[in-house]
Amino acid sequence: MSFIIDLKCDDCGAVYSHMEQINTCRQCGGLLEARYDLEKMKSEMDFQKIMKRKRGLWRWRELLPVVDESNMVTLGEGATPLLKCSHIARITGIPNFYVKNDTLNPTASFKDRSFSVAISKANEIGVKLGLTYTSGNAGASFAAYIAKAGMDSVILVKEWATREKIAMIRIYGQKMVRLAYDSFIEVTTMFEKAEKNLGVYQFIVFFNPFRHEGNKTYAYEMWEDFNGAVPDVMIHPTSTGGGIYGAYKGFRELMALGLTAKVPRMVAAQPEASPPIVKAFNEGKKEAERFGDPKGTIAQSIGSDAPIGKGKRILRCLYDTGGCAVAVSDAEMLEAMKWLGKDGIFAEPSAAISVAAAKKLVDRGDIKREDMVVSVVTGSGLKQPEASYLATGEELGMIRARYEELEQFIRS
Ligand SMILES: *Cc1c(COP(=O)(O)O)cnc(C)c1O
Ligand SMILES: [Zn+2]
Repeated sequence: MSFIIDLKCDDCGAVYSHMEQINTCRQCGGLLEARYDLEKMKSEMDFQKIMKRKRGLWRWRELLPVVDESNMVTLGEGATPLLKCSHIARITGIPNFYVKNDTLNPTASFKDRSFSVAISKANEIGVKLGLTYTSGNAGASFAAYIAKAGMDSVILVKEWATREKIAMIRIYGQKMVRLAYDSFIEVTTMFEKAEKNLGVYQFIVFFNPFRHEGNKTYAYEMWEDFNGAVPDVMIHPTSTGGGIYGAYKGFRELMALGLTAKVPRMVAAQPEASPPIVKAFNEGKKEAERFGDPKGTIAQSIGSDAPIGKGKRILRCLYDTGGCAVAVSDAEMLEAMKWLGKDGIFAEPSAAISVAAAKKLVDRGDIKREDMVVSVVTGSGLKQPEASYLATGEELGMIRARYEELEQFIRS
């Protein structure tokens, strides 16, 4: 069912079978990228057939890496609503403003796209023990899918993960411990050793070659929802970049298949406290250096000072599409949570950042008012309720159940 060919190293070009348990290149440590036979698919594929399948991520199985359908691990991810948001349109001054509401995935974040695909593939290649590290959303998603697959796993959670996120992971029944560190580099070094010595398979974005493959489905779904068109601009909250880069790869594949003539300008939104990609982009660099304080923001899901693979994939995606990177303050994220609320969407700060970024980019002229813009809202506010109280304030009055008090309240 899949048109996957192999895995190729970004840096040295070494090629590996997609059926091997491998995280990064054995020759040089570079990141691995799945390649597909798009030429063959273009000539053989009947796209009407795809569109007749049930909506959802696996509708696009030819472009996903799983060969045997029986290995699919699904909880009903993808096919999330693309919502036209009239309140935010007014606030930002972008009439064609849309939100891709990925809070509606099975574990309430977009991480489910990537874990459904990566854990299905792990199932296919016979992985025994999965390992990941998480600020919460990835852990919840990983735990749910790995439980469903019946695989063993170990989950390390950031020391500042919220109770709500930890609660979810616990219920899915996985082995979990808190992890303390100063820089993300310590984590990646530790994981590399565990991979070599213990035979574990990593699920961190990009060290796992299949996570971002799931995020390609953003592109396919937007193309479906816009009836064969793609937006002018797509904004994604960005930490390791699996979301934005996956979407970019998906749009590029649609172009190679002759289904769209262009790729949207891709925008990476990062917190002001830890914006390594924004810094590198503003300096015109192809690699990002370690920069910022990942704990210095309420955007807990995207605080990261050292992007994996030096952020090369993300930066390539920004330069290649004429996009950009933008840093957003905590106050701006909290404000954007309230704008989203007016359009009926409850987001965590790390997700609302893509809406705050849209406003910033119109104000500074990087988005034109006539552009069609999609901000991806990646995670639900339910998993970080403290942030919503920061946005709205804590105080709430009370009345007795008497008509007079109700009348007075209504008139007040
Ligand atoms: C993980 C996460 C992100 C960042 O995704 P990357 O692929 O690491 O860039 C954004 N928003 C939310 C809510 C997340 O959980
Ligand atoms: Zn290599």
